[in-house]
Amino acid sequence: MRTPKIIIIGGGIGGAATALALHQAGFEPMVYEKTPTLREVGAGIALWANATYILQQLNLLEDAIRVGCLTTNYQFLSQYGRELVNISLDRLELPVIGIHRAELHQLLWRNVPSEKFFLGEIFEKWERHENSVSVHFISGLTVTGDALIGADGLRSRVRSLLLGNEPPIYRNFKTWRGLCDYIPSAYRPGYIHEFLGRGKGFGFMMLGKGKMYWYAAATAPEAQPDAAIGRKRELENMYRDWFDAIPEFISATDETNILTTDLYDRIPIQPWSQRNITLLGDAAHPMLPTMGQGACTALEDGYVLAKCLREQSDVVAAFQKYESLRFPRTKAIVEASLRSSKMGKLQHPVAVRLRNGLMKMMGGVIGDSMRSFHDYRA
Ligand SMILES: Cc1cc2nc3c(=O)[nH]c(=O)nc-3n(C[C@H](O)[C@H](O)[C@H](O)COP(=O)(O)OP(=O)(O)OC[C@H]3O[C@@H](n4cnc5c(N)ncnc54)[C@H](O)[C@@H]3O)c2cc1C
Repeated sequence: MRTPKIIIIGGGIGGAATALALHQAGFEPMVYEKTPTLREVGAGIALWANATYILQQLNLLEDAIRVGCLTTNYQFLSQYGRELVNISLDRLELPVIGIHRAELHQLLWRNVPSEKFFLGEIFEKWERHENSVSVHFISGLTVTGDALIGADGLRSRVRSLLLGNEPPIYRNFKTWRGLCDYIPSAYRPGYIHEFLGRGKGFGFMMLGKGKMYWYAAATAPEAQPDAAIGRKRELENMYRDWFDAIPEFISATDETNILTTDLYDRIPIQPWSQRNITLLGDAAHPMLPTMGQGACTALEDGYVLAKCLREQSDVVAAFQKYESLRFPRTKAIVEASLRSSKMGKLQHPVAVRLRNGLMKMMGGVIGDSMRSFHDYRA
């Protein structure tokens, strides 16, 4: 039987994971990425057990452990460093890993033959035929395959042609992310430390090679420009009276290593597949990073999609099965991420004291709820 040719738009973590899973399952993936080089932003991510399970299935877990940092605890604190909740991640049979995004991206790509990806190609539109789809790029290139997967991120063009132009929803949060070599004395090895204040928060963790990754989030209007004094000085002012390690991190980071991103999501809707065209990762279900599950669920998507195609030779039926497996889980995580962002938005000192008191009392419940997402095996 002829091997189906599958066109993937987007070579981010979702597109790369899908290409690898399809390649390992014996399909012919072809990935078209708009940037001229394969790259990821200079930041870290946490890969929870549900994602390290996927890396294990793709035979990448040992490599990921080697280039990442094993994470044992997720600790929430007040802005002054008082512990609110300490969730042990050790009981999971799979590790939790802090990893540089570029390391994860390379790990996935390294295992896909280079002739399967095409860089500098910007997807423009498709044309569907009886049992195939032709895909057109701005460059004038046209390719034809058996199926098309939109893994083209938050502002997916594949999605807008498939489902309409409804924009993602800005959730009134802006983030700053930084990388540095400074390790504060308060860092507990293996910990993700996350500090909650009034309308803003700050977290940090170790990645591989001893690099520290930190992130800050604060309520802000959409597309707010950087302050005239620059990102670093603005953050120094915002976090001046917070727990010592926080201003220390900011002053130890070069302004050029600080990224800012506005935060959006959209509650997934069905269908997100039409016949032989489907979506995955942020193109299907962008979420706020409060549960750290965006890339983890993109890995799950790619693996499940390849599994469905392996089990079901009809592409249309396989895409329907994939969507029916992924819709309830990703919707639940998008909604949980939105709910937990509301805890970080509280501004009034009384509400903040109440939240902190409740978190202290309900540590067990918070840990169980988080672990219920991590315990899932796609
Ligand atoms: C502040 C922040 C922190 C986060 N922390 C975590 C975390 O700790 N853990 C976690 O799991 N997730 C985290 N996430 C979420 C995670 O980054 C995303 O969910 C994940 O990167 C989505 O991957 P993707 O491949 O679907 O999309 P993307 O990474 O956006 O990739 C899409 C790709 O498509 C390409 N593309 C776009 N349009 C076209 C076109 N027309 N033609 C060709 N190519 C195109 C783009 O260039 C890009 O390479 C975080 C996100 C943010 C903003």
